Amino acid sequence: VRSISLLGSTGSIGVSTLDVVAAFPGKFRIVAMAAGRRVEEFSEQIRKFPPLVVSVEREEDADRLRELLPSYRGKVLSGAGGLEACATLPEADTVVAALVGAVGLSSAYAAVKAGKRLALANKETMVVAGELISRTAEETGAEIIPIDSEHSAIHQALRAGKSAEVKKLILTGSGGPFRKRPLESFDEITVEEALRHPTWKMGPKITIDSATMMNKGLEILEAHFLFGIAPEKIDVLLHPQSLIHSMVEFVDGSLVAQLSRNDMKFPIAYALSYPDRFANPFGELPLAGRILEFEEADARRYPAILLAREALTEGGAAPAVLNAANEIAVAAFLDGKIPFLAIVRTVADTRAAFGRRNSPQSVEEAREIDGEARRLAAECVNRFSGARV
Ligand code: MG
Repeated sequence: VRSISLLGSTGSIGVSTLDVVAAFPGKFRIVAMAAGRRVEEFSEQIRKFPPLVVSVEREEDADRLRELLPSYRGKVLSGAGGLEACATLPEADTVVAALVGAVGLSSAYAAVKAGKRLALANKETMVVAGELISRTAEETGAEIIPIDSEHSAIHQALRAGKSAEVKKLILTGSGGPFRKRPLESFDEITVEEALRHPTWKMGPKITIDSATMMNKGLEILEAHFLFGIAPEKIDVLLHPQSLIHSMVEFVDGSLVAQLSRNDMKFPIAYALSYPDRFANPFGELPLAGRILEFEEADARRYPAILLAREALTEGGAAPAVLNAANEIAVAAFLDGKIPFLAIVRTVADTRAAFGRRNSPQSVEEAREIDGEARRLAAECVNRFSGARV
């Protein structure tokens, strides 16, 4: 039985993780669970999967939780300390890192430091502190199994050959809702339009990242740090059907692809069951009559991919700055403060304003870089606020 600490249980990945746990009775148990501010939903989850320890963001919500669950016998914690306690709980062998954004970094780092298997849905962790996390995992022997569908696909495909035989990784992306929209009308894109993803149902932050394709940019960075593959060996290919989740090309010309339904339960189940595979209860993928299309990602349509590649080439703190600026810009767009095109402009301007710095050597340094980049990004947002770009 794998014992799981689930960080970010009320988000989209968290809910799917609990579905996976429920679908395989006797294989997994939840020993710790952390959530943000959705206390009512969280209390329902605790009732269903009573863990040893739970944690919420704020102490007042911890009090509310104790009121809602008078007969719960586990510990109710809060804040950064509570999150860390969940991430390092001795009874947990696996930590599912499903918090959204850079806030997930310290708990993911704590889990790796404690030698846990990290089932990683939070790609920002690898983008912000990829070097630090990879190095620490090597020291402690912690396994990192990605939950991001592309990286799960690559993790699976890489098992088909030796690392010296890998020619390149091919990250596939749907192209988001604006793959065919005329470029002249990009300045009129609304929040509602950007939230309408053609193939995946996900949280708002990642859905906007899919519309700009910053998501694919972050995934290039994530792939580089996860698999130790050189930037020039990581390609992006548009694949509107999202049936192939990514591929590995080997030196002999063979391409190994992974396909499954567009449902995050598949990569979650893989990360939890690895190196085994459990019988699939989530439905088959009917392929007869299906068409697979591929096209190049147009740099004018998706400048975010180029920005991410530049950050990877520059190295140092650049990926962390890119990520922080993007989080601020996406939040401002979702709030209706800046237009769609200003998201990428905010990221580019923040990168320019930040200058060069070394990569973070500790969580504190990562947090410092992140904070400074957010401050600069907020200034850019104010400049773009209400403007047409
Ligand atoms: Mg992905």
